[in-house]
Amino acid sequence: SLSDRLTATFKNLRGKGRLSEADVDATVREIRRALLDADVAVPVVRDFAARIRERALGAEVSGALNPSQQIVKIVNEELQGILGGETRRLRLAKNPPTVIMLAGLQGAGKTTLAGKLGKWLKAQGHSPLLVAADLQRPNAVTQLQVVGQRAGVAVFAPHPGIQSEFEAPTGNPVAVARDGVAEARAKLHDVVIVDTAGRLGVDAEMMQQAADIRAAVNPDEVLFVIDAMIGQDAVNTAKAFEEGVDFTGVVLSKLDGDARGGAALSVASVTGRPVMFASTGEGLDDFELFHPDRMASRILDMGDVLTLIEQAEQSWDKDEAARMAKKFADQEDFTLEDFLAQMQQIRKMGSMKKMLMMMPGAAQFRQQLEQFDEREIDRVEAIVRSMTPHERVAPKIINGSRRARIARGSGVHVSEVNGLLERFGQAQKMMRKMAQGGGIPGMPGIPG
Ligand code: GDP
Ligand code: MG
Repeated sequence: SLSDRLTATFKNLRGKGRLSEADVDATVREIRRALLDADVAVPVVRDFAARIRERALGAEVSGALNPSQQIVKIVNEELQGILGGETRRLRLAKNPPTVIMLAGLQGAGKTTLAGKLGKWLKAQGHSPLLVAADLQRPNAVTQLQVVGQRAGVAVFAPHPGIQSEFEAPTGNPVAVARDGVAEARAKLHDVVIVDTAGRLGVDAEMMQQAADIRAAVNPDEVLFVIDAMIGQDAVNTAKAFEEGVDFTGVVLSKLDGDARGGAALSVASVTGRPVMFASTGEGLDDFELFHPDRMASRILDMGDVLTLIEQAEQSWDKDEAARMAKKFADQEDFTLEDFLAQMQQIRKMGSMKKMLMMMPGAAQFRQQLEQFDEREIDRVEAIVRSMTPHERVAPKIINGSRRARIARGSGVHVSEVNGLLERFGQAQKMMRKMAQGGGIPGMPGIPG
C-alpha cells in the first residue's frame, strides 16, 4: 500500500531539514503510483502529481512537520480540494417541488439510487415522488415501482399495471417526466426524482433524450450516477454527460466493491462538479453522503490507522526479537546494550508518530502515540553510549563517580542517569519474568 511505500520513502527523508528536489520526486513518484493503483485517470494523475511537486518544492519549511509529513499534508489538501472540502448538500427549490434528475449509463445504479434517495428524503420529512421516465428497457418501469414500494415512496409511471415484462413500455419519456412533475405539484410532493434511461455506452440518441428531459423539467439538480468500478473510462463518460446533458453533482455507486474510488477524483477533477453521494450496496439503506476526507484516505490507501499501527509494531525487528528469544533461551541476562537496542526499535515507531497522528481515527490512539518522545530516546542513547562496554553488561558496578562521569559524557544531569538505570532495572526484571513465562508482552522500558 501507499503507506508502506511512503514509510520507506520517509525513512530516507527523516532528519533532512528541507525539501530537496530528489526527496520531493521520490515521494511524488509513490503518490502517482498510488493514484494509478486506485484507477484515477492517467491525465488526472499527471496534473495532480505536477501540482503536488510544484507546491512541495515551493513549500515553506515548516518547523512542526518534517519534509515527508509536509508532503502528505499537501497531498491531502489537494485531494480534498478537488473532491470538495465539504459534502455539498442537495439544493432544494424555493418553490417546491424540487426536481432531481438522474442521468448515467445503463447499470450505473440510477433506479436503485432513486429508491435510496427517496427513502432518505422521506426520513427527513419530505414527500418525494419517483418518476419512471426510462421507457427504454423492458421492466424499467416495474423496477422503479418495486423500488418505490420498498422505499415507501410514491411512483409516477406511464402505464400503471399494464406493462408486459418482455416489452419496453411505450410512450414519450419527455412527456412522462413533464407529467410526473405536474403530478407532484398537484399532489403536493415537495421533491420529484426523475429516473431516466441509459445505454451501455454513450450514445447520441440517449444523450439527446436526457437533454430533452432536462429542458422539459428544468431540474434543480441533475445527478450523474457513475459506477465506481468504471476505472479509466470515468473521464470520457463524465465528459460525454457533461457536454450532452450537463450535471450539477455526481453520485458514486458500487463503492462497496473493491474499487478504491479513483473515479471520484477523475470525475471531480475533469468536470469540477462535486461528488455528493455514495452508493454502497444493493439495499435501500446502502447510501450515504459523500465524505471527501474519507475518500481521500481511500484513494491514497492511507486511512487505515490500524495497518499503520501494525507496521509500527512490525518495525520491532524480527531479527531483534529472535536475538532476544535466544538470549532468554540461553538464560543470558538482559544488558544495557539490549536496552538500547530496544530503545532504537521504539524510535522506529516514534518516527511515525506525527504521521500517525494525522490519520483519520488517530484520536483514539492519541494517548499511546503521545508517549513516544524521540528526544527522550536520544538522551537514553547518549547515556548508554557514554558507558564503558563493561558497565553496559554489568550495570551494578556503576557507582556514584561512574554516574557523574557518564552524565558529563552524555551532557545530561546525574538524575537522568539514575532514572535510566532505574528504568533499566525494571525492564531487566520484566525480561527475566518473560524469560520464565515466555512471550513478549510489549515494550518494556518505554520512558514515561
Ligand atoms: P440503472 O440502469 O442505472 O438504473 O442501474 P440499476 O439501479 O438498475 O442498478 C444496476 C445493478 O446494480 C442492479 O443489479 C443494482 O442492484 C446494482 N447496484 C446499484 N447500486 C449498487 C451499489 O451501490 N452497490 C452494488 N453492489 N450494487 C448496486
Ligand atoms: Mg434504471
